[in-house]
Amino acid sequence: MSLKPSPKLHPVGWDLLVVIAVVILAVSVGIGLLGTSESGPLTAVISADGQPEERVVLSSLTEPEERVLHSGGYTLHLVLSADGVEMTTSDCPTQECVHTGKITRSGQSIVCLPARVIVTLEGGAPASGPDVVIG
Ligand SMILES: [Zn+2]
Repeated sequence: MSLKPSPKLHPVGWDLLVVIAVVILAVSVGIGLLGTSESGPLTAVISADGQPEERVVLSSLTEPEERVLHSGGYTLHLVLSADGVEMTTSDCPTQECVHTGKITRSGQSIVCLPARVIVTLEGGAPASGPDVVIG
């Protein structure tokens, strides 16, 4: 029997931001589960700076709609369509929200850490399991 050396942790700034994002996400998901039914229409919940900004029922959209979000000093362009949500452009430094691509299923999220923007999908067909995309 041998003991493995415990892995050393090197907390850096990004780790902290990720932790904060996960906490924000957990809280927002918790609020979402408390306040809404899972069986409703597919709905995009847009949050900026920790505040819920807008809920958009995607299935009611007949053509894609663009939202311009101003948060944290950044400008983000979000395109909402009947089958999902995509961050098309952002002037944030990491671009991870843009690289997340299109989210189409309940429970998926687009997170922009620098701008503190979270877009989460709720309702629609039940997701097969927790599937959170952080980018
Ligand atoms: Zn971003």
